[in-house]
Amino acid sequence: MTQALQDTGARAPLTFDNSYARLPATFFARQTPSPAAEPWLIKLNEPLAAELGLDVEALKRDGAAIFSGNLVPDGADPLAMAYAGHQFGNFVPQLGDGRAILLGEVIDTRGNRRDIQLKGAGATPYSRRGDGRAALGPVLREYIVSEAMHALGVPATRALAAVSTGQPVYREQPLPGAVFTRVAASHIRVGTFQFFAARGDTDGIRALADYVIERHYPEARHAANPYLALFEAVCERQAALIARWLHVGFIHGVMNTDNMTVSGETIDFGPCAFMDDYDPAMVFSSIDQNGRYAYASQPGIGQWNLARLGETLLPLIDEDQEKAVEAANVVIKDFGERFQIHWLRGMREKIGLTSVEDGDLDLIQSLLSTMQAGKADFTLTFRRLSHLAGDGSTEAAFLETFAEPAAAKEWLSRWRQRLWREMTTDTERSAAMLGVNPAFIARNHRIEQAIVAAVEEADFSLFEALLAVLARPYEDHAEFTAYMQPPKPYERVLQTFCGT
Ligand code: AMP
Ligand code: MG
Repeated sequence: MTQALQDTGARAPLTFDNSYARLPATFFARQTPSPAAEPWLIKLNEPLAAELGLDVEALKRDGAAIFSGNLVPDGADPLAMAYAGHQFGNFVPQLGDGRAILLGEVIDTRGNRRDIQLKGAGATPYSRRGDGRAALGPVLREYIVSEAMHALGVPATRALAAVSTGQPVYREQPLPGAVFTRVAASHIRVGTFQFFAARGDTDGIRALADYVIERHYPEARHAANPYLALFEAVCERQAALIARWLHVGFIHGVMNTDNMTVSGETIDFGPCAFMDDYDPAMVFSSIDQNGRYAYASQPGIGQWNLARLGETLLPLIDEDQEKAVEAANVVIKDFGERFQIHWLRGMREKIGLTSVEDGDLDLIQSLLSTMQAGKADFTLTFRRLSHLAGDGSTEAAFLETFAEPAAAKEWLSRWRQRLWREMTTDTERSAAMLGVNPAFIARNHRIEQAIVAAVEEADFSLFEALLAVLARPYEDHAEFTAYMQPPKPYERVLQTFCGT
């Protein structure tokens, strides 16, 4: 640690072990963060810092310097990772961390290796024309949404800190600058594999695949074909992940291959959003004009992205490329079924079913189409159904969610008939449903209000309040009732923007 910290007798706040930095030089570019003028710690995620085994007290004191990039702790080996990617279907052979710098890796208190990355700490060799900086708004958005996802039980990168730089960034207008500290199981993307494939660097792909197996999928090493097993394992985690997104009404917004991890964590919260009214065609992203990444398109896009990953692995899967293609195709075709299994299992839980019947899919789909026709709020519908499962007197509240309550009432009677063949009691069913159907999601208008207050008034109280509500999404809290509500017509946010 620095001299100042040694003098105070404090132990180093982070202990690094940087395995990525030990990979071949083609994998990254070493890059020191650029200093910030007047860093100020907006938020330190203390429970996460403790989970990572960091010295929370030292970080409270020195977090502004460390998480702005002004103070590079001993043992850090800052670098920008190389990657490529398909952006909206078009292949870009070189992207890379243009505004992100990996400080290093720590082993958390559960023994898991985690990346600590600064986002917005200055330019890197991959910045192209970008400034490597981040504006406060997108930093707060990523902080809120990643923590909300985690609290919902959806695998996601985490927010460790947000720091204000005291310096403007120049977009269409000057905006307050900030740095976001992100924690991930790793930052390896489908696009990382594509980077080496685009260069015909089979040794690079093999080194990366071996590294990913070691770090994320050690069981694949013992499979008959480890690289095919790796591919299957990534497909399985992504199938499970995307199903979870759909269960909570989440729209990622930019499912480019460079924004898809191989670990199965949600990453790169840019123009993402949770939907209010249920609409499978919903898109929020200002840059997604053709609706490529609409809510219901996400499983298909996930499969498309994974096919791109499969292509990069072909030289490792079999020397005979025809056989390799055949084997990879089987895995890719299975993705649809893998996804469907996860999705249906979760949807059954959402409507309180513990047994499995053929008609369940139809029952679920009929609820979804009734919601769509009735412009029902996705989150409120399932939350109210969960209460209704245990207390019949709340039926009116459930029906109110629909513009056309008659159809919803009809669906309820179908649902109740199905429940006769369930073994669970009403009380058990309601409790289980309340545990999977959140009361609180990171509603877009609330995020927007928190960002506006922070950016325009340097008022972080809405940001803090929202984080507190979203930390326990499955518990009813009378004082938070307003946070359950969908936006009023004048509060609706129809578009979200990229972090740049
Ligand atoms: P994203 O849309 O955030 O997934 O980023 C796509 C690519 O643009 C990545 O290579 C980023 O590193 C790069 N990028 C985004 N914003 C900036 C910025 N402000 N400065 C430099 N590079 C950036
Ligand atoms: Mg990205």
